Amino acid sequence: METRRVSGQGARVIKAPVARWRVNLVVDPILCDGHGVCAELFPERVVMDHWGYPIIDKEEIPTGLTEHARRAVAACPRLALHLVEGRR
Ligand code: SF4
Repeated sequence: METRRVSGQGARVIKAPVARWRVNLVVDPILCDGHGVCAELFPERVVMDHWGYPIIDKEEIPTGLTEHARRAVAACPRLALHLVEGRR
């Protein structure tokens, strides 16, 4: 197991597992019909193109934005938006 050092109070050093999973947002372009709900709910990673279809940022979604991403996925009327977990 890969570990990282986490220093706590005093001189103690604790070894903790390193998070090895990443989460990405993906869209199925066949199902998507361009409602744009995803861009409204998750503008940090989704913008609309000139035709009204989403352009998804391929960067990993940081933990702090995961809840926004899940909300966008849940609101997609075509079930075209997904969160995909994978190894780093
Ligand atoms: S909410 Fe769903 S159907 Fe609408 S643009 Fe986004 S991915 Fe496409």
